[in-house]
Amino acid sequence: MDLFDISMEVHERMLHWPGSTTPVQGWDTRLDRSEESNASNWILGSHCGTHVEGPSHFFADGDDVSHIALDRLIGPSIVVEIPESAKAITREVVEALSLPRPAGRVLFKTSNSGHRLERTEFDPSYVAVTVSGAAALVEAGASLIGIDYIAIEVYGAEGFPAHRTLLGARVAILEGIDLRQVPPGRYVLYCLPLRLLGSEAAPARAVLVPLDAIGER
Ligand SMILES: [Zn+2]
Repeated sequence: MDLFDISMEVHERMLHWPGSTTPVQGWDTRLDRSEESNASNWILGSHCGTHVEGPSHFFADGDDVSHIALDRLIGPSIVVEIPESAKAITREVVEALSLPRPAGRVLFKTSNSGHRLERTEFDPSYVAVTVSGAAALVEAGASLIGIDYIAIEVYGAEGFPAHRTLLGARVAILEGIDLRQVPPGRYVLYCLPLRLLGSEAAPARAVLVPLDAIGER
């Protein structure tokens, strides 16, 4: 069965949001120190690499990431490709997609999946969702929005309006998905953020299974 692992690899030099904590791997014990096992520890930002965000990212009384229902994170999803000419995902771009109603889980493959995601240097010109695009997605009945860069918001957008629009409507946000090998189409998404109590976000493993491969098992 074909599986697409759309999770970013986590390592110390990975692409990260400016100023955020970068991963650090330490060791409690090491075989090459003549200890009994390898056992490591990690310092991770909760928004590191592929990650899910819940309402408490921007709403003081919002649910944390551990309370996002699993049936929101697992299930049918659609990968849509945005034309290279679209520099942002606006209402016009969303409406031109003719998404199913309700739209459900929508993963955006943009020009970020070209050179931009491969580079470890942050590129502020990434393709993002504008506030009008976010509103159109809420109106279309989206339950989860994924984007192929480490942020969904237009860089520098004052007040994070796309985040507020999506999270305020309880739409889960999945940032930092690697869709480079994934053709547009219909899939089943399996997206499992770590169950970090009280955390507004958590790193996740995310996998897509092509819908037509499900029957092959
Ligand atoms: Zn975010």
